Amino acid sequence: MITDECINCDVCEPECPNDAIYMGEEIYEIDPHKCTECVGHFDEPQCVQICPVACIPVNPAHVESRETLWQKFQRLTAAKDGGEAGSAGAASSAS
Ligand code: SF4
Ligand code: SF4
Repeated sequence: MITDECINCDVCEPECPNDAIYMGEEIYEIDPHKCTECVGHFDEPQCVQICPVACIPVNPAHVESRETLWQKFQRLTAAKDGGEAGSAGAASSAS
């Protein structure tokens, strides 16, 4: 998550491999459904590494295990690849 200490410096948004960072109403925000804490892409969260004011802590409401993050990465990758991933994802969300 991004705290209100964000200075809107714009450097984190292009670094995110999952396009999880977007401009919110006042400051940048992170979509927790897209953020894998960079699991699957990098060893360290890229936004955390690059933020000049260190305002990107893990959201206590979204503490996820590495396994969970890895599964999210695989879902996101499958969705990005297109094919039948979109409909399959919607169908399996009930399980
Ligand atoms: S931790 Fe990685 S995936 Fe999550 S918002 Fe930051 S750059 Fe994007
Ligand atoms: S890098 Fe940090 S200060 Fe800059 S826009 Fe992102 S969250 Fe805000």
